[in-house]
Amino acid sequence: MKTVSSLLDEEWHKRYKSISKLNIRSSIYDVTNRCNLRCKGCFFFSSDEDKAAKEEMDLQKWEVFIDREKERGVNLAILIGGEPTICLDRVEAFYSRLPTFCATNGLIKVPRDRFPHLMVGISLWGDEEDEKLLRGKDTFPISSRNYEGDSHAYYLYTITPKQIGKTERIVNRIRDVGLKIHMQLLSNDEGVEEFFWTHEELKDIRAEMDDMLDKYPDVVISSNYYHEVITTGKMFDRQFGWGECPSVTEPIDRRDPRPKHLMGFIRWASDLKTMHRCCTSETRDCSTCKDGAAHMSWVMVNKRAHIRSEQDLKNWIEVYEMFAKLYQFIPW
Ligand code: SF4
Ligand code: SF4
Repeated sequence: MKTVSSLLDEEWHKRYKSISKLNIRSSIYDVTNRCNLRCKGCFFFSSDEDKAAKEEMDLQKWEVFIDREKERGVNLAILIGGEPTICLDRVEAFYSRLPTFCATNGLIKVPRDRFPHLMVGISLWGDEEDEKLLRGKDTFPISSRNYEGDSHAYYLYTITPKQIGKTERIVNRIRDVGLKIHMQLLSNDEGVEEFFWTHEELKDIRAEMDDMLDKYPDVVISSNYYHEVITTGKMFDRQFGWGECPSVTEPIDRRDPRPKHLMGFIRWASDLKTMHRCCTSETRDCSTCKDGAAHMSWVMVNKRAHIRSEQDLKNWIEVYEMFAKLYQFIPW
């Protein structure tokens, strides 16, 4: 029988050991229903999730709720919205209680005297042209000014089909402001023309993502296997989608058979009562979902399937390490 020890040499075994003890239990929280942008393709607004629940305004209720989440075993709070930085008191309520990650468009600076170690993921959609077209504004000049050289921030670069052949310039722009990058793919939730992925484009962007990781390993937080899985939607002979997705809110997951999933995962609306279906939106078509975290988690919860060859297990370790770095469980 193949085992972890039989497949790995000493160095890889050490890497395996340091991640296998992490036991990450995340949940996602809509901090607010408001945002200072309205991006075409934002899963939150395009699916009316901003109207699904009335925002809880009482800070004390947030604090009691977060304490309950901690008791439930959550050890990673992922803050989204809307734009969490609009409500820094709520962000602070999480940050003072739990390891916390804050997704932001970067237009409002998280004050570092108040949040010295808060990991911040700054969204960037393609290049200047894509940003203007999809988000109504080129956010990079503002967000990069706010976070230049910040060791607890990175760019979450959402690659669009228009970015093929252009990613290196973006990687360099981000490197030049002293930040790291993680790449994911646009899902095009609002059907913007020319922003759907074709099979050929996915093949091309996979090669380009591999190339960026190869050339800029100190800047790009990624793995070749992640590129493969996210661009093909395949893990071995299995197809990503509703039947496989691990990022479905556990208490309302009625799938039968239920695939391997994130333990105790819930995506909470900002009324602190409503649960959303999954880490993106209920109206998104799972067959075209390109959500990066859901694909990463898909690999992570399927460790056993990767204990079949040395390379498969190493691929699994690299994806797990990438996730752990992005959420500050291990250093860059
Ligand atoms: S910045 Fe984020 S939350 Fe705000 S509209 Fe854009 S994608 Fe949605
Ligand atoms: S939309 Fe994406 S994240 Fe949500 S259940 Fe479907 S595959 Fe999973």
